[in-house]
Amino acid sequence: MTDDLPDHDDFETRAIHAGWDPDPKTGAIMPPIYASSTFAQDAPGEDRGYEYSRTGNPTRTALEDNLASLEGGAHGRAFASGMAAINTVLNLLSAGGHVVVGRDVYGGTHRLFTDVYEDYDLEFSFVDATDPDAVAEAITRKTELVWIETPTNPLMQIVDIERVAALAQDGDALLAVDNTFATPYLQRPLEYDADIVAHSLTKYLGGHSDVVGGALITEDPDIDDRLGFYQNSVGATPDPFACFLVLRGTKTLPVRMDRHSENARTLATWLDDHPAVETVHYPGLGTHPDHDVATAQMDDFGGMLSVELDAPLEAVRSFVSETEVFTLAESLGGVESLIEHPATMTHGTVPAEERRETGITDGLVRLSVGLESVTDLRADLAKTLENTIDT
Ligand SMILES: *Cc1c(COP(=O)(O)O)cnc(C)c1O
Repeated sequence: MTDDLPDHDDFETRAIHAGWDPDPKTGAIMPPIYASSTFAQDAPGEDRGYEYSRTGNPTRTALEDNLASLEGGAHGRAFASGMAAINTVLNLLSAGGHVVVGRDVYGGTHRLFTDVYEDYDLEFSFVDATDPDAVAEAITRKTELVWIETPTNPLMQIVDIERVAALAQDGDALLAVDNTFATPYLQRPLEYDADIVAHSLTKYLGGHSDVVGGALITEDPDIDDRLGFYQNSVGATPDPFACFLVLRGTKTLPVRMDRHSENARTLATWLDDHPAVETVHYPGLGTHPDHDVATAQMDDFGGMLSVELDAPLEAVRSFVSETEVFTLAESLGGVESLIEHPATMTHGTVPAEERRETGITDGLVRLSVGLESVTDLRADLAKTLENTIDT
């Protein structure tokens, strides 16, 4: 749908233009929502690039090309949800295959791997991926895939993508990185030799909490061919309206991420000095254990942070329930600020013992810092901490 923009065009320009040139027929600036399930053929088997909308749809192509450009990859594939995208990566594995997984991953990813795919004879080893030795030790001859997130959810740990990519390569395994938290504006894993980047488009890329979607991006045409085969065969593809909404979101991704990062940095710094707060997990703080790795591989530190409160469970539950500007809800990455309690919400499906080992304590609270006035956000947290947490 577009002549690829030259490589020297900056991210902000590609965010707005990559994937779509004004429609030659009408001049439409935005890609139309091609609400058509099928496409006329000129002769049997001679289509004009599209035949059936599960296989491909022009609005979806515009989104896929836009995302590929932003991640610096050649090929993008869009899905009906982040989980559908992640599922498609697992479709690449052979029966009996082994996967090394960073321990602190999205709860839904953990559930898909253990509660669904272990029943299909895939084997998963969960390791502390911030420790390259632990990753190296876990890789065996049967390992076909290494799966990481960075920053991790909800503890905001940082995995050194380049080091883990080298270990995966040594072990003849693919490296897939879930880049949902950072977004391509702040971190591009393909630059550090990851094979596949996965996204929940539901979060920052959509950016307005009004659409669910997922994506996979790769530079390798063979991997893309296989992902495309499963995308079409399984059929968890997004409808064109969802694709349109995400495309509208990616246009403003740079300005949103700049403000998300700025607001989160301000709150993290302030919370770090607050007497009710034991620890702040934010990679932008100099005291974060992986601050140097984060600085090397990220352009800024994003809008997610978590805090540990030294308080009983009931007080922590009151705190997250009583904020007024922060809304108590799962999900993240929208313009509005959200607050949640991982142990009983997003990570409630992770077994209690494993939660403890990972460090997801009852006192842990996760914030998705939005684009409201940071003065209002800070005042909301200050008042609610004072009302609910004894110091
Ligand atoms: C939300 C999320 C997912 C799952 O995406 P859905 O769009 O909800 O299916 C995967 N990984 C991360 C890091 C997420 O935050």
